[in-house]
Amino acid sequence: MLDAYLRNGELFLKEEGVGEINEETIKKAYLWPVDEMAGGIGVSLEEEAITILRKFGFELSGRTKEILPSLIPNKKGICSLCGKQTKVVLNKAFIFPFERKVDSVVNENNRLTFCMEHAFKLYSAMVYLYVVPTNEGTLKFFFDGPERELRRFKNAFKRSFWLDRFSIEVKSRNGKKRYSLKVNLALSKYHPNEAFFAVLHEFVKHMRNRRMLQEVVESGRAVRAYLVYGSGQFYGERVIEGTTLERLINFLKRIQDRGKETKWSRKHLEPRDSAICLFYENLEVPRNKKDRSKNFLEREEFIGKLLGGKFDFVLLNRIFMERIKVKLPLPLYYYTWAHSFLEVFGGDVVDVKTFERINGLGYALGKVMKGTNLERYQWELFRARGFEEFINKLVELQAKLEMNFDLRPVYENEREWKVVKAVILNGMLNALYGSEKEVSE
Ligand SMILES: [Zn+2]
Repeated sequence: MLDAYLRNGELFLKEEGVGEINEETIKKAYLWPVDEMAGGIGVSLEEEAITILRKFGFELSGRTKEILPSLIPNKKGICSLCGKQTKVVLNKAFIFPFERKVDSVVNENNRLTFCMEHAFKLYSAMVYLYVVPTNEGTLKFFFDGPERELRRFKNAFKRSFWLDRFSIEVKSRNGKKRYSLKVNLALSKYHPNEAFFAVLHEFVKHMRNRRMLQEVVESGRAVRAYLVYGSGQFYGERVIEGTTLERLINFLKRIQDRGKETKWSRKHLEPRDSAICLFYENLEVPRNKKDRSKNFLEREEFIGKLLGGKFDFVLLNRIFMERIKVKLPLPLYYYTWAHSFLEVFGGDVVDVKTFERINGLGYALGKVMKGTNLERYQWELFRARGFEEFINKLVELQAKLEMNFDLRPVYENEREWKVVKAVILNGMLNALYGSEKEVSE
């Protein structure tokens, strides 16, 4: 991750025409990266820069009052990047913010140290670091790739999109400046994976409106995304490869195309938001009135898997059942989401064809169950433990309905019966409780 982050700093310095890095250059340019990260609000004082860094989730110690001295090497050591024995500085959160800080475990001697050149290049990488505040601390992410593709991708991402959506508000109180960060997104976000998904959806929409999506996809293929979230000793990270990024973009594009202009409670949803929004926002499982973010733990897990290229039908089924229990509507556009995802990613346990067959079976069962006293069978099926019990319940249900269904897709996928069960139930629930137009297609 160190090298990936470094490339962003190198890119910025090259663009700014900074060649040789020496004390003079550093003194002249060290506030530029902070200002650029903050969207060019005109940072001219070190004190301001430190407040902004803290606001962006850089974990500076309470004693930090200066930046400049930490960038000028003053002791002998070895640079963790180039291995040169020279004068070095100890890593600081504003140089490379992702060094694991488990203070009691890490020996001070193993901490990262950098030569002047590498310290300043890493420090400059914050220009292309993106921060989204969520309830759970902040999500930080950046991109990496071969120089040409990285430059093209970040030009589209930062110049065209991010600076349009991101803003930093400055308020003065008692002579002190206060900053607040805002990222203007259509989707709600309580957790880090949700936040990245919300950004990606917005980005795809934005690029399409400017007819630049194709270009983004081409350079994005060679680019990977690094996500880091959490704070203190608890933090997670994930890397999204370019090929996955490209698929996620295509997946979002497909769903965006399926939506129609809609009124949703008091909100007006534009066509490209509605099919994304009406599924995503209905993945809430109500459980905590005080802290709403707890209602979205399942959604965060589901979206996290989605970003990793997996569509988790079982988890989705759990969400659906929980919502039915408390008489909440099912997420709309389930079929569109599942189908588009499998089309783009190819599927693992179930592919598009298998999904269509199994979902069709569940849906057909649900249709004939509707309005009869057999509706409770959804719970019998849901509670089934083991393939045998599950298939017995299905056969039992068939007999009671006095109808014959083609159960071959269930037998054919015995080993993955939990996924099969979830797909059947999701289809069934959509027939029983879903809105007609969204499920049959
Ligand atoms: Zn070095």
